[in-house]
This record gives sequence, C-alpha cells and structure tokens, in this order.
Amino acid sequence: MAAEEENTTSFKSLGLCDQLVKAVAEQQWKSPTPIQAEVIPHALEGKDLIALSQTGSGKTGAFALPILQALFDSPQPFFALVLSPTRELALQIDQQFQALGPGIGAKSVALVGGESEVQQSTVLAKQPHIIVATPGRLLHHLTKTRGFSLGTIKYLVLDEADRLLGEEFEKTTNEILKVIPHGGERRTYLFSATMTNKVKKVARAGLRNPVKIEVASKYSTVETLQQQMMSTPVQYKGCYLVCLLKKWQRTDQKKKKCQRRAMVFAEKCAETPFLACMLQNLGIKAIPLHGKMSQSERVGALNVFKAGQNNVLVCTNLPSRGLDIPSVDMVINYNMPENPKVRLAT
Ligand code: AMP
Repeated sequence: MAAEEENTTSFKSLGLCDQLVKAVAEQQWKSPTPIQAEVIPHALEGKDLIALSQTGSGKTGAFALPILQALFDSPQPFFALVLSPTRELALQIDQQFQALGPGIGAKSVALVGGESEVQQSTVLAKQPHIIVATPGRLLHHLTKTRGFSLGTIKYLVLDEADRLLGEEFEKTTNEILKVIPHGGERRTYLFSATMTNKVKKVARAGLRNPVKIEVASKYSTVETLQQQMMSTPVQYKGCYLVCLLKKWQRTDQKKKKCQRRAMVFAEKCAETPFLACMLQNLGIKAIPLHGKMSQSERVGALNVFKAGQNNVLVCTNLPSRGLDIPSVDMVINYNMPENPKVRLAT
C-alpha cells in the first residue's frame, strides 16, 4: 500500500491530474518508466520532442499521458493525431488511449485499413478527441469523409517516425503534414527506435527547438539477450529450424516451465504459411502472420500468439517493431533481414 502511494505520487509529481494518476494506477503502472519520466515533464512544458526509445519502454504512455493532460486542460474535438506505420500498432495505441482516457472523458478512434470505413466515418461524425491512424486510411478519410478535417489538431505524434518518414510512407505522410496546422499552433513528437537521417532532416524542418531524449542507445538490445549464428546447408535449413524448435520445446518440458514464445522471421509472405504448416505437421504449435492476410486474420493470429495457444509465430517483418507482445523468449531470423535495423530494434 505504501509502495502504491509512493508510486502514484511519482506519476503525480510529473504534473498529471488526479484522473490520469488514477488511470495509470488502474493499469497497474506503479511508477513512470525512464522514457515516461524523461518525456512527460518536457511535454507538459509544451516542448516539441524527438524521443528515441525501444519497444516495450512505455513510449505510448510517454506521449499519451501529456496529450491527455493537455486535452483535460483545454478540451476540444480532433485534438491530437497519432500516426503509425502498421495497423496493429495503431490499434494497440488506440487501446492505450481508451484505457487511460475515460476518466477525463477522452474519446479516440483508430483509422486503419482492413476495417469498415463506414463504421470509422460514423465514429468520426461523433468528433473524437484523438485520432490514431495509419497514413493510407487517414488520407482516404480526409478526401472521402465529408466534414472531416485536421485543421484543429494541436498535437501530432509520429510513432515509428523513421518508417513513416522513409520511402514507403513518405508521400502519404507528406500529404497529411500539408493539411495540419504548422508553426506555433501544433506540438510535434517524433518517437523512433532508430534515428535515421530522414528523422534528423524532418526534425530540423518541422519541429520547433525539439528536446532530444534518448533512453536506449542506437540499435541497442537488452543486456540479457544471447545471440547466436547457425550456419546450415541451404537445402536442410528447414530441418535445422525444426530441430532447434524441438530442442527448445524439450528444455521447457524437462524444466516443467510454462510454454514460452518464439518468433520466426521469414523473408516473404508466401514463406510464412508454408513454414508454419510444416512446423504444425511436426507437432510445433506454429501460426503464420503476414501482410497479405486480412486484418481480422492478422489480429486473430496475433491474439492467439499473445494468449499462448500457438507459441511460435512465423512472420514477415510486419510485427517486428512497436508491438507489445509479452515475453518473447526466442527470435529466429530464418533469413538474414534485408535491413537488420528493422529486427534489431525490436
Ligand atoms: P509500449 O512501449 O508503449 O508499447 O508499452 C509496453 C508495455 O508497457 C505496455 O503493455 C504498457 O501497458 C506497459 N507500460 C507502460 N508504461 C508502464 C509503466 N509505467 N509501468 C508498467 N508498465 C507500463
């Protein structure tokens, strides 16, 4: 109890209102994570930010809490826009706003591809305060949904900013940046696991004297991570994969540990169902996840993996960054990643 009091005071001492302090306590967040402790005071002072931090560091709370605090101080519809490169990450961010926001009456919506546009338009008509979106679907609503504009946005967050500003999304992101307020009217937060030149360039162009916060060093991995390389004849790669996973499973059974989770990264979408099927036939509870699956299949696969029903996720780079998957014990790069940063920053 004493510890709880001390910890809630700690969130309180960052300058958050009682409703938000209560909301974090309900999430069982006992004290701010390092990124939250660094970011929140600067954000509450109204500074623009570039924050480098790893997935799992609590970065969503680091930007969500000051935005909710500012919304509490001056409520208005279409107050903040959070952009994310993937649907899954956007849905996860929206869930966090929905968990933290009700005490102050905050409403959010996730605008992501693969889900009903009509339903999203209906929620937009109710004028939510926070929009969490993937760039493509947001641009679609900006052109198609009557009466919807981003002219009043006071906060912009680019999560996984290096990807949003990279080649894949550059055009769409730039289109969106054109139609939201600039200059002194808008606070901008760039959150990224890596600091690419692109982030540096945009930071110079679009942010006002941003505070740079780095909690994790560039491409860092956790200290306890053990990394190994296995050299195999190409025609037996599949056999080695099965062997490795079987051995890992046996260790679990021997130690009577609860089932752990592993992720196997493959290069191409088509490879993931093939590998997952092979592993399933050999008694390994594998499930595929790739970008060509429908949105409901993607969410379903991720939930089954998170719940531990299937404990080996065979995937492309799709979920490699930003997703909050509790305790993944082993990651196998079945192919060398084209861009190692993408998986290293996980
Ligand atoms: P994120 O890095 O934002 O994806 O968050 C990773 C996980 O950390 C999520 O499950 C959050 O609910 C959790 N989390 C965020 N902030 C805290 C905190 N201060 N204490 C404990 N858990 C937290």
